[in-house]
Amino acid sequence: MPIAHAIQNSLSSSSMIRRLFEEGAALKKIHGADKVFDFSIGNPDIEPPAAFHEAFLAMAQDDAAGKTPGSHGYMPNAGFPDVREKIAAKAAREHKVALDSSHIVMSVGAAGGLNTVFKTILNAGDEVIVPVPYFMEYRAYVTNYDGVLVEVPTTENFDLDVEEIRARLSAKTAAIIINSPHNPTGRVYSADTLARLSAALAEHGRLCGRMPYLVADEPYREIAYGVEVPPVLNAYSESIVVSSYSKSLSLPGERIGYIAVSPTIADKDAVVNGLIYATRVLGFVNAPALMQRIVARLTDARVDVGVYERRRDTFKRVLDEVGLSYAEPQGAFYLFVKTPPQMSDDITFSDHLKKHLILGVPGSGFGKKDWIRFAYCVDERIIKASSEAFKKAMAFD
Ligand code: PLP
Repeated sequence: MPIAHAIQNSLSSSSMIRRLFEEGAALKKIHGADKVFDFSIGNPDIEPPAAFHEAFLAMAQDDAAGKTPGSHGYMPNAGFPDVREKIAAKAAREHKVALDSSHIVMSVGAAGGLNTVFKTILNAGDEVIVPVPYFMEYRAYVTNYDGVLVEVPTTENFDLDVEEIRARLSAKTAAIIINSPHNPTGRVYSADTLARLSAALAEHGRLCGRMPYLVADEPYREIAYGVEVPPVLNAYSESIVVSSYSKSLSLPGERIGYIAVSPTIADKDAVVNGLIYATRVLGFVNAPALMQRIVARLTDARVDVGVYERRRDTFKRVLDEVGLSYAEPQGAFYLFVKTPPQMSDDITFSDHLKKHLILGVPGSGFGKKDWIRFAYCVDERIIKASSEAFKKAMAFD
């Protein structure tokens, strides 16, 4: 038995996206990259903004001139204090609360941050509620720490269904995880929705003596199309925001993000010390040093969201032309499209599209069958060119 049973099981069941990614690469070899319409993976293709390169160069020059001794060494596990101060100021602006460096722990992307949070807050058997559909890695992030993921349905237009959430709250509920703007639906939860959720969680906490944490996974906060992404930290006392620069600065490979806790969170010192300890013992030790220093200089920079918005509109036109219906994306870079009545389910639909060299991820992979996700972080020309392939696919000849 070379590897653990749990890992063996996960390997055989996991990652539709990875499989599609590999199939896409094989198809591109056969047909040529511009003939395959690969909307499978959410890997931002826009380069980081110029401000990133400027900060990177300035950093290297300062280092070479000996101005920043020790900056590549170990540091407090929470991250550089001056960086945490700057991130606190940014998160305070976004969430309309007062924060300082003591509320921030730098993380290894949002994925690292979520693992750090669940390592810190979960006892074995604790439940984490997740609205469906959801980013499929959440299941592993929760079960990694012997937690149990509890799926709850959302409304018809993928808003949070607060009554459904209320019905699933129990003494075992440690947390609910929300993601806005949302992968895969593009949904942004309104301030009113967050207020209703907060009231339900607080009421449950009063009645059962255990306030669930609200974990907001926000790597897409800055990718929104003309809608405000409402603050979370001021909406609920026990909230924890996990964010990253993977999408807003197109830096997913650099693994840089942060965790921000609400200033009103109970036992704040225990929570933050737990996060710092978890960062260390999960083997992250600390978030990447160079990237911490760079993002601290870039609190106002972001990729050109207009590029994603144009692609979204182009893709919508392609889908409209062939009569496919979808959830209206308010942010992120995904279109969640309903399986048409001609197809028995999302897997069949995905296989059918593949024959026409269109790749999308079946909704089953997000806990929501009969839908399919297309990622539009690809060149707009590919989206336009996919129109003919969609027309042929939807002719069902
Ligand atoms: N959460 C969601 C909803 C995501 O879509 C992703 C990545 O695609 C992540 C978390 C992980 O982000 P990061 O690359 O910052 O770890």
